[in-house]
Amino acid sequence: MTTDSTSERTRAERYNPGDIESKWRARWEQDDLYRVADHVEGRPNRYHLTMFPYTSGDLHVGHWWAMAPSDTLARYFRMRGFNVLFPMGFDAFGLPAENAALKGGIHPKDWTDANVVRMRGQLRSMGASFDWGREVVSSHADYYRWTQWWFVQMFKRGLAYKKAAPANWCPSCNTTLANEQVKDGLCERCDTPVEQRFMAQWFFRTTDYAEELLDNEALDWPEHVKVMQRNWIGRSEGAEASFALEQPASDGTSEIRVFTTRPDTLHGVTFMVLAPEHPLVPLLTTPEQAEAVAAYQDRAAHATEIERLATDREKSGVFTGAYCINRLTGDRVPIWIADYVLATYGTGAVMAVPAHDERDFAFARRYGMPVKVVIAPPDWDGKPLTEAWTEPGTLVASKQFDGLPSTEAKKAIAAYLEQQGWGGTKVQYRLRDWLISRQRYWGAPIPIVACPDCGEVAVPEDQLPVELPYDVEFRPTGQSPLALSPEFVATTCPQCGKPAQRETDTMDTFMCSSWYFMRYVDPHNTTAPMSREAAAAWLPVAQYTGGSEHATMHLLYARFFYKVARDLGLVPGDEPFTRYYAQGQILGPDGRRMSKSRGNVVAPDDQVQKWGSDCFRGYLMFLGPWDQGGPYDVDGIVGVSRWLNRTWTVAVDPPTR
Ligand SMILES: [Zn+2]
Ligand SMILES: [Zn+2]
Repeated sequence: MTTDSTSERTRAERYNPGDIESKWRARWEQDDLYRVADHVEGRPNRYHLTMFPYTSGDLHVGHWWAMAPSDTLARYFRMRGFNVLFPMGFDAFGLPAENAALKGGIHPKDWTDANVVRMRGQLRSMGASFDWGREVVSSHADYYRWTQWWFVQMFKRGLAYKKAAPANWCPSCNTTLANEQVKDGLCERCDTPVEQRFMAQWFFRTTDYAEELLDNEALDWPEHVKVMQRNWIGRSEGAEASFALEQPASDGTSEIRVFTTRPDTLHGVTFMVLAPEHPLVPLLTTPEQAEAVAAYQDRAAHATEIERLATDREKSGVFTGAYCINRLTGDRVPIWIADYVLATYGTGAVMAVPAHDERDFAFARRYGMPVKVVIAPPDWDGKPLTEAWTEPGTLVASKQFDGLPSTEAKKAIAAYLEQQGWGGTKVQYRLRDWLISRQRYWGAPIPIVACPDCGEVAVPEDQLPVELPYDVEFRPTGQSPLALSPEFVATTCPQCGKPAQRETDTMDTFMCSSWYFMRYVDPHNTTAPMSREAAAAWLPVAQYTGGSEHATMHLLYARFFYKVARDLGLVPGDEPFTRYYAQGQILGPDGRRMSKSRGNVVAPDDQVQKWGSDCFRGYLMFLGPWDQGGPYDVDGIVGVSRWLNRTWTVAVDPPTR
């Protein structure tokens, strides 16, 4: 070998990631290298998954930070002898598609489908070991047919119900939102203050599973995520007590039920407060108070939840003119409405004990209501309190319970209520049922037909999907766009065959993502969302990765779905994700959150173009702890590039001795 030919070859085979990576990607695809069979002799199954991306049209560095190390981990387990399932797909329904469509004048479906094509290409450039044969796109009819199937199962089991109730309403998104999608009174998606609207909506009975969802200690998840879920579910022990209405309401209602964590203070109730939206309010308000009550209700309807719950805001309220009776004392208790009580939380009614609650104390002061001490502070001289005593103590002015310490009195009074048929011990959760109706176009239609004779009837499973029509005016108006399509609405009742109307709300897109990981195990099944065999082969997910901002939304909903799937006999175990890992965040080179306005965005496409995918991924693997992330170091990637070049040179042109 002459010196000449050696240098010739070195030049020709210099490390050129663009050529090498595209050559091998094509070869992998041709060989179907990453197709995963459900069973491989001698290789135990292991399911690795990264949250599927929303079809925004652009894969950003955050996606790479979640997916590329996940791929490394999947490959690692493959090398250790496991048969690893590592699928990918797209979360494709939702508001951004509509908003982009409105801006760009393109149909949400066309926008979404084009983005899927683009992002699929970006994902392929990653060179990850995704099994593309199992791809799911949640807006495709062959997927949402099964999302609708899940709804029907929920409906059949009594886990889906329609109820007129005050709902969170985002005036900017023009739709209702689940409680989980309201963060500190703001819409989780657009940060607009959320209002309350009274509407008929579909709910899932997530609260039926509250106790089980609370039990997440054994999961191999980040502690803070488990704590967030437990706090969100918010179990509190206390008692329910009924107060008799002095005059039955005009619909015959004769009592108001309240939940309290302090049954030991029941003898100190001096007024009752209902949410302004409480359905009883118009039924028990006296004619003299009607005008004041209506005016107050109107003001409350226009206040945001933030305003209503602000702790520094002076509490206001209006007397309804009606009274109830504290059954324990026989006291006549005035019924007020106040906007700090929300109809969407608890029973929408609270008993007020000003002596032992700060908020009630302030309210009583303002409106001249009595303050009745029933828990004596230590060394209390019997004089009026200057502030609420909220600690436990010894009961006074509580009849047969006098002298008991608070802890004992709680139990004794709850037992007494139970014995009298006035209530009793109760566990209450902060968690509400999941509101899944959306008054928007780009989602899976709720598969329900409203028949004048039969009521709400589920669309039979063999008639699914209820297809989302393409030619619909999808601009948000506050009412469901599908309601504007007579062809969509008019149908016949599946039960009696008479003319009937389709439900026109679509489903929360969090429903699509609540079960996609189950579809990957059997994505082409046309008779079921997945077979029991495929589910048994792969589920639960051994290793799940994604952002912890999903702690009380997706990660909670998916657990709920999985428990329902278990109860349907479809899946093994009780939990969908045995181990969940929350990756951190990659910041801009300046150490700040990447944003277009700051001009510090690192685009993965550019990095791949410049350095190659292997180099970019190699750099990410060296960047720092996965659960933390950190600033993107433009110089750091140069080092990885040099290292790959050297490795290449050693491989193709080993130094001669
Ligand atoms: Zn919004
Ligand atoms: Zn019917």
